Amino acid sequence: MGRRRVPQALTPRALPRFFVPPATLQTRTLPDAVAHQVSRVLRLGMGDWICLLDGVGGVYLAQLGESGRIESLQPSALATELPFAVTVLQAMARPEKAETAIRLCVQAGARAIWLAPSERSVAQLEPAKQQSRESRWQRIAQEEAELACRARSPEVRVLSDWAQAFAGLPRPVFVLDEWEGATPLKQRARRMPMPDALSLVVGPEGGFSPDERAWMTSQPETYAVSLGARVLRTEHAACYALAQLAALWE
Ligand code: SAM
Repeated sequence: MGRRRVPQALTPRALPRFFVPPATLQTRTLPDAVAHQVSRVLRLGMGDWICLLDGVGGVYLAQLGESGRIESLQPSALATELPFAVTVLQAMARPEKAETAIRLCVQAGARAIWLAPSERSVAQLEPAKQQSRESRWQRIAQEEAELACRARSPEVRVLSDWAQAFAGLPRPVFVLDEWEGATPLKQRARRMPMPDALSLVVGPEGGFSPDERAWMTSQPETYAVSLGARVLRTEHAACYALAQLAALWE
């Protein structure tokens, strides 16, 4: 029996979503992996619609033509990005924890996720593996962004030097600090107008060293902030902070 065709609601949220290289929108030919997913897995064909995203906010409704061709392309929009761009600097953790952190940060709206080894990072990444790990984690972030109906695909970077990564962060920087006495993030954020961009810095499973903490909080526009009395796992902390900021400013 043929597939029962249910009329598709022509909105980005209702359609299968794919991030594609911007060139796809010129050549109007789907990348092989997307064409395979569309025809073989989703069993969509001529006349059906999908949503294509260029990764930096461009959203399009695309009607399928013959074998992976795009018959027509209509500009659309998705209002799912946070009104402030958040870069997360996540201390390198074991791969499964790093992947959880990436997925949660994408779901919570991070614009970029950088990973670098801090003094107490248990997981050290061999330089030879850095590129392949970054490519894998970028794919994971992109998949998560498609599921989350994000208009953008967050950038993932794997860096080798903590101080260098920290220096490149957009200001203001909030160093997530589980030690007693740090100002609550909500309290610190309430004292300032919503910035266009900000950064969140998360320590590894073993936390930051005292020297690290002292060095970071001596940097300009950098604040040690608490997320509350409970100690969170390294892979959950940035998402928890993003949720607090979204509750305040979104
Ligand atoms: N010192 C922690 C402990 O006693 O288990 C270990 C560090 S915690 C597992 C990992 C990181 O998550 C911390 O370095 C911090 O960046 C962040 N974090 C966890 N709980 C937090 C909280 N309540 N407030 C702010 N940051 C927190």
